[in-house]
Amino acid sequence: MLIKICGITTPEMARKVAASGVDYIGLLFTKHSPRQIDLATAKQICEVVKDYDTQVVGVFFDESQEQIQAIDAALSLDVIQLHGDAPRAAIANFTHKPIIYVADGKALPAELNPAKDFILYEKITPDSTIPFRYFIAGGIDKDNVLARIAEANPAGVDLSSGVEITRGVKDYGKIREFLALVKPTYYGAFGGMYVPELLIEPLHDLTKAYHEIALGNEFQAEFINLLKNYVGRPTALTEVKNFAKAIGLKHVYLKREDLTHTGAHKINNALGQCLLAKKMGKTRIIAETGAGQHGVATATACAMLGLECKVYMGDVDVKRQAPNVAKMRLLGAEVISVTDGSATLKDAVNEALRDWASSYETTHYCLGTALGPYPFPQICARFQSVIGNEAKAQFAEQTGSKPDLVIACVGGGSNAIGVFQAFIPDEEIKLVGVEAGGYGTGVGENAARFQSGRLGVLHGNRTYVLQTQDGQIADTHSVSAGLDYAAVGPQHSDLFATGRASYDVASDQEALHAFQLLTSSEGIIPALESSHALAYLIRIAKDLPSDCKVLVNLSGRGDKDLPGLLERGLIHVAH
Ligand SMILES: *Cc1c(COP(=O)(O)O)cnc(C)c1O
Repeated sequence: MLIKICGITTPEMARKVAASGVDYIGLLFTKHSPRQIDLATAKQICEVVKDYDTQVVGVFFDESQEQIQAIDAALSLDVIQLHGDAPRAAIANFTHKPIIYVADGKALPAELNPAKDFILYEKITPDSTIPFRYFIAGGIDKDNVLARIAEANPAGVDLSSGVEITRGVKDYGKIREFLALVKPTYYGAFGGMYVPELLIEPLHDLTKAYHEIALGNEFQAEFINLLKNYVGRPTALTEVKNFAKAIGLKHVYLKREDLTHTGAHKINNALGQCLLAKKMGKTRIIAETGAGQHGVATATACAMLGLECKVYMGDVDVKRQAPNVAKMRLLGAEVISVTDGSATLKDAVNEALRDWASSYETTHYCLGTALGPYPFPQICARFQSVIGNEAKAQFAEQTGSKPDLVIACVGGGSNAIGVFQAFIPDEEIKLVGVEAGGYGTGVGENAARFQSGRLGVLHGNRTYVLQTQDGQIADTHSVSAGLDYAAVGPQHSDLFATGRASYDVASDQEALHAFQLLTSSEGIIPALESSHALAYLIRIAKDLPSDCKVLVNLSGRGDKDLPGLLERGLIHVAH
């Protein structure tokens, strides 16, 4: 479903509307509209919108053919919208770009091309037998939009006054509400279900089970009980005074996901999904894993819940993560070594999706982070939301206030979204996600999706993806296996695009330094992934007010990283 918002009048309005994930914005050039804009403003708007995946529509009513062409020549509009009184001859001038033709009862000109042009119905009920895709408009608001769509079956909806506070002033909250209603599988412009036909049915089944079972009281009571008595929640919130002092700050608090059973936040999601699968009547679980952390968490949940478990793991990873492979096998899981492609995580995900397409009657795919096709990002975020909910309450209890800054490392994005969610509504709290800066800024030297990634589709969702010039998935690198992935969860892409959260990087070297500093100053060995969040804080500490209250999500413990670091000579231990 396409969304077009008409009557954009300022560059700031354009930026906000584009960032929220709208497909088209309409600029009105007619003097009869209160939302008319001049060419100079239109130029600024086109410039601003270039950074987004939103197309600019020039809306014309009664301008002459020459005027329309002159405006298009100045702006290079993406789409031309012609109302009945705009000269029909103009249609012939725009055979090279899409036209939106406002029909409303008039005969459709033969010059229109169904392959690229749209019809817009403002007043009358669309004629669904025409060979064109069409928009509906007129009196659409959030209470009637779904009924209007069901009735008219359009390709898109065109909104203007339905999303305004007062005439000409757009209400961004309302636009977001609209988007959530009309595109429920998206976070703004990101997310969706980009999967082969075969996977649509299992994804729909899962969405239904998520709403009907996982959000129900009975499931929640059982899940909360397991989180408490099996995982060991609530995890502590620890003030780290020595570490804070060492970096020139006064108030640094760590949310201790390292203290969970299996040693990282991943168990929250794995347990939630496996419990849901069991309630759905599934007997078998498949999962992908990179370094093996999610594989171990899933195998653990399956052992406890009595489910069969098969873990897909790239052959390269099977060889370099032998202890986790042994652990999974000990827990009763079958580990399948994937030799396709680069034989790493992305190939393991492909293989798991392939398995699921033919096995979903009996099998749940337990995806390990907050990405993939909808509803996976939603489900994972929900099961991880316990992190932020606990941290927010603990922070208030221990300090009598709220954090100024919340930091988390971002691989696929599950621990970060887990902690961020509770704080998103409070815009005073700054949220920062930290990606793997690796050893450089070149392609293949990092996993910094928000630094050098582009919009793309990987593993069923539309999001920021590191890719080569011709759109192939780029190689990635990080000293921490959990951050070493080419795409990022779609909700993070949305938080980035809308500016609600910002994203930065920490390099391998910075992470190793943070790893050692927290260990030696506090007696807490952080996971290398979590060390990226600490490293970012170390780097920016001097720019913060010294009384800044900081919350860092310590996503996991570093015991798993130690053998590899020693073996590779990346850290040295004095005798
Ligand atoms: C897997 C992992 C991560 C990265 O995954 P997210 O989904 O981004 O949280 C971070 N920290 C630890 C300890 C991990 O095991």
